[in-house]
Amino acid sequence: MNYCKRTLPKRKRMALVAHDNMKADLMAWAKEKKTQLEQHELYATGTTGTLLSTCIEQPVHCLYSGPMGGDQQLGALITEGKIDVLIFFWDPLDSVPHDPDVKALLRLAAVWNIPSATNKASANFLMESASMNQTVEIEIPDYQSYMEKRVP
Ligand code: PGA
Repeated sequence: MNYCKRTLPKRKRMALVAHDNMKADLMAWAKEKKTQLEQHELYATGTTGTLLSTCIEQPVHCLYSGPMGGDQQLGALITEGKIDVLIFFWDPLDSVPHDPDVKALLRLAAVWNIPSATNKASANFLMESASMNQTVEIEIPDYQSYMEKRVP
């Protein structure tokens, strides 16, 4: 795979998702990080986003609820380069009906190499990073050359 650069903006487009048993944790975390979150543009799956916008009194782009396709919408936005950071409080102690979508979302975050946190400690590390408040370059797959190789 060849790689190329993608510039993440100073004001990040952040996706936030929490499974049902993790929603209280994400809300508590978001309240702690309210001032920092205000510097960014927030996206979330339906229920998480609705709770979040009330909790931190900040606009959130709400997609569909996760089990109804919201995780896949986020995955598509990541693929299109329209999400810069993913914070995903997934539930490691319970299964969800949309597990394939959860895997797909995490997979696409890995494919497109966006900074991602899947628990509170890594979310804290991410928020404390200087890169959160400046433009930063990441390496992404060079889609153009990928396609050139596939289509002779
Ligand atoms: P929700 O979806 O925010 O609509 O609950 C999250 C998920 O379970 O993926």
